[in-house]
Amino acid sequence: MTIIGEVAAARAFCETARAGGGSVGLVPTMGALHAGHLSLLRRSVAENDVTVVSIFVNPLQFGAGEDLEAYPRGLSDDAALCAAEGAAAVFAPTVAEMYPAPPVTSLDFGGLSAVLEGARRPAYLSGVGVVVAKLFAVVGACRGYFGEKDWQQLAVVRRLAADLSLPVEVVGCPTVREADGLALSSRNAYLASAERAAAPVLYRALSTGVKRIEAGERQAPAVESAMAEVLAAEPRLGPVDYACVVDAATLERREPLVGELRLLVAAQLGGARLIDNLPATVPPP
Ligand code: AMP
Repeated sequence: MTIIGEVAAARAFCETARAGGGSVGLVPTMGALHAGHLSLLRRSVAENDVTVVSIFVNPLQFGAGEDLEAYPRGLSDDAALCAAEGAAAVFAPTVAEMYPAPPVTSLDFGGLSAVLEGARRPAYLSGVGVVVAKLFAVVGACRGYFGEKDWQQLAVVRRLAADLSLPVEVVGCPTVREADGLALSSRNAYLASAERAAAPVLYRALSTGVKRIEAGERQAPAVESAMAEVLAAEPRLGPVDYACVVDAATLERREPLVGELRLLVAAQLGGARLIDNLPATVPPP
């Protein structure tokens, strides 16, 4: 496996792979790799001739006061994991290599970026959009692997690829969880042990919401109250940003609940801001 630091070298690597008839899979990450990332990597290795894992803590997607400096970094461990899983290359550029000049380009995803994470973290989705567009531009025609864990990010990336006719197939991959339901996240490293013990409350709240829908509830406020009640019962949990159910593709509210839905939650727990989500489907009457 090769570790590539330059944009031009990454582009040449992928062009060479395609010129030989190979397909390219791209797994964009910010490093601190865990089993969630590795599930994306394994899927890409299974589906493509060549897999490139990008490791880049993207400053554009962090807002003021967020954890850009504290974000865990460890390139040599990450590269060893990528090699063991069969990646052909790790693309790990510096900030100066990715952004020789501070980008002035920003991206607006309309209603998709106005709600949920977009409402709380104004830099996040535009920053993700710019870096993902840039990675697709560097790598070229490929399949791009993204986790459902970051549902709104996945929705935005799908629209980015479709709206701009990028030569990319966006592949969504299911969330990998600990045995107690906590979604794996690099930010879980911020949790002290008592907070770690409390963290599965997000999954319990989401599961409660899903069960209410499966039991026939069709009013979003009732589902959301049920989730809020579960969250409120955990005294260690800090402020809840949202606990809601929306249309899975548009992220808009649906009344009554019908079609492909997504339940999403975000809350502060100690030093970590945790997000998670689960699907629910209501067939049309
Ligand atoms: P990150 O390094 O946090 O930017 O994540 C890189 C990619 O891994 C994103 O597409 C995430 O959605 C995905 N990812 C992160 N955590 C998980 C998880 N627990 N299960 C599946 N995918 C994940």
